[in-house]
Amino acid sequence: CGIIGVLGKNQVAPLILEALKRLEYRGYDSAGIATINEGALDRRRAVGKLINLSDALVHEPLAGRAGIGHTRWATHGAPTKANAHPHRSGGVTVVHNGIIENFRALREELAAKGLAAETETDTETIAHLTRLHLDAGMTPADAVAATLARLEGAFALAFLFEGEDDLMIGARKGSPLAVGHGNGEMFLGSDAIALAPMTDMVTYLEEGDWVVLTRDSIQIFDEKGRRANRPATRIRLDQ
Ligand code: GLU
Repeated sequence: CGIIGVLGKNQVAPLILEALKRLEYRGYDSAGIATINEGALDRRRAVGKLINLSDALVHEPLAGRAGIGHTRWATHGAPTKANAHPHRSGGVTVVHNGIIENFRALREELAAKGLAAETETDTETIAHLTRLHLDAGMTPADAVAATLARLEGAFALAFLFEGEDDLMIGARKGSPLAVGHGNGEMFLGSDAIALAPMTDMVTYLEEGDWVVLTRDSIQIFDEKGRRANRPATRIRLDQ
């Protein structure tokens, strides 16, 4: 339902939690955050209101200057902690808004390749597929491109990768996603309102676009994998 991604200068979990609060108005049943901390991937998830995620973070803080967060509105699978995003498979973690229509077929294919489903969600197939591509030796960007080529349905996605403290990949099709430009920082948001406290310069991805971000660079590709130029616009939000 709501997505926030941050390649930041400081600890990002508190920043992501604040940004998720700005997306609460959209409604949600669970929430979670994953970070990369000195290469290591970790995550916290909680059912119910953000206060529960916030409590989980107090008990077990999540370090790292790169992170993704999600508020989930369940479409496939009950609102449980196991089904909450970010999802993870091996060295990849992903948050997803929308629905993967062909997830049942993907799930069977993945199970046959040794990656049995651990959750009831459609989203998990995205993590598993990307992991398979990484394990086959692809770069993160190539792995995501290969995954996107297999997905049917609607999605906004944000990915992080173990061992990559300065890399975040986003994608959109049928569900909005914007890149927020920082000064030595970079952001992803499903909603410009959520990005407002961090930056007012945004680039809206177009249908089928995906983006490879570092703290200092933005590379946008279209559905066919060609480099795309999308305009940056200054947003004005009176709140
Ligand atoms: N289809 C996904 C799920 O049920 C994402 C739902 C959402 O957009 O929050 O987990």
